[in-house]
Amino acid sequence: MTPDEFRADGHALIDWIATYLEGVEQFRVQPDIEPGALRAALPVEPPTTPEPFAAVFADFESTILPAITHWQHPGFFAFFPSNSSYPSILGELLIAGLGVNGMSWVTSPAATELETHLLDWMAELLDLPDAFRSTSERGGGVIQATASEATLTSILAARWRATGGAVNHEGAAAAVPLVAYATAQAHSSIEKGLRIAGIGSEHVRWIETDEAFAMRPEALLAAIEADRAAGLTPFWVCASTGTTSSTAFDPVRAIGEIARANGLWLHVDGAMSGIAALAPEFRWMNDGMELADSYCTNPHKWMGVNFDCDLFWTADRVALLGALSILPEYLRSKAAETGSAIDYRDWGIPLGRRFRALKLWFVLRCTGVAAIQEMLRSHVAMAQELASWVADDDRFEIVAPHPMSLVCLRLKDSDAANDRLIERANATGTVLFTRTVLGGRVALRFSIGARLTERRHVEAGWRLLHDLASS
Ligand code: PLP
Repeated sequence: MTPDEFRADGHALIDWIATYLEGVEQFRVQPDIEPGALRAALPVEPPTTPEPFAAVFADFESTILPAITHWQHPGFFAFFPSNSSYPSILGELLIAGLGVNGMSWVTSPAATELETHLLDWMAELLDLPDAFRSTSERGGGVIQATASEATLTSILAARWRATGGAVNHEGAAAAVPLVAYATAQAHSSIEKGLRIAGIGSEHVRWIETDEAFAMRPEALLAAIEADRAAGLTPFWVCASTGTTSSTAFDPVRAIGEIARANGLWLHVDGAMSGIAALAPEFRWMNDGMELADSYCTNPHKWMGVNFDCDLFWTADRVALLGALSILPEYLRSKAAETGSAIDYRDWGIPLGRRFRALKLWFVLRCTGVAAIQEMLRSHVAMAQELASWVADDDRFEIVAPHPMSLVCLRLKDSDAANDRLIERANATGTVLFTRTVLGGRVALRFSIGARLTERRHVEAGWRLLHDLASS
């Protein structure tokens, strides 16, 4: 591809994306295809000669597009959103155009410094504790790809701290007595991260939750004391601010006080809901955050920053660097040795790093915080109105508190009937819902957060459930 061909094809592609997003509502949210159907339509042998971009794009439209799940569709009520926006898409394009690998300061000073600056901006915008700022004595923030990686990073830092650094030399043997705590409502990435860090399921305690699916702090304390009495070492606890199943909020302050008194690292997982703290009225969720050792939230869910972009802060970068910093000869630099610059390769799992700060910067500046606050507020308001419609229909019940933009509801009927309802609704192609199990019963998650979702889409989604329940 020549520079001129790139220009022409690139302009056409931008046009296509704008038209796609303008008309995304016309697609089925989820394609109606069987597993393997796309592969069967692709040539068995890889290409041997270059082809014009137009030919490849024609195949994209005829073969790939029909197999796409349209996450930006306004009827996308599944999982949690992964919303995008025009400034972010342009940011992604520029990131690719620059092709920078921001593993350390010297490999591209702008990638490091913009990232540090944006993490400080976001800490301010979300009203997070000063201890997370780069200007604090021991804290700072970094962009990770996902909340899963942020959680793993926090476990590794906590493991380093709890073993006095011995884990780096002795390996898993040093971690043998370590015990971790969360609720069964915590995201699966918590258990996965612990597994990767060598904390087997026998050393993970799933703490009892209350009727709102939030951790009972007194049960946490009792579990810690029992483990201590058994000669084990409690080292890490995860509090979720907005669980995946139902957006339950663990009491961060009470958990943090227990963690501090017992020497545990407190990680707070606000992957989805945490972004809502951009609006002052939702900042109640940060209560107790000054007791946390680390925190993460995902602009790639609910802020219009394209996947991937997770913000991770720690108040103890010494432990983080102790766990992850490594300096082979080929990565030495004066900036790193003098401590005058941050090398973000020491703040996460991979060495290579995308220049993700650029798309976050574009969104903050081009969209602006006020418009993002407005979107968050409107989604939460839509969810509250939806909950009022559900409450007025006595064939349905709401099965969990719904302080944010997720409403978990079910037919007052068998689990099979609820599964059938979800299946039939999704089969229409106008919506996509996912299920969960709360209190042992199947529930439909009506998760609002796609950027293009308006009240009328939520109303149509509810009308569909209402009508299906009647037929
Ligand atoms: N934590 C919570 C509360 C989540 O809801 C999710 C995903 O929905 C995750 C973690 C994992 O997020 P990621 O895909 O960024 O790893």
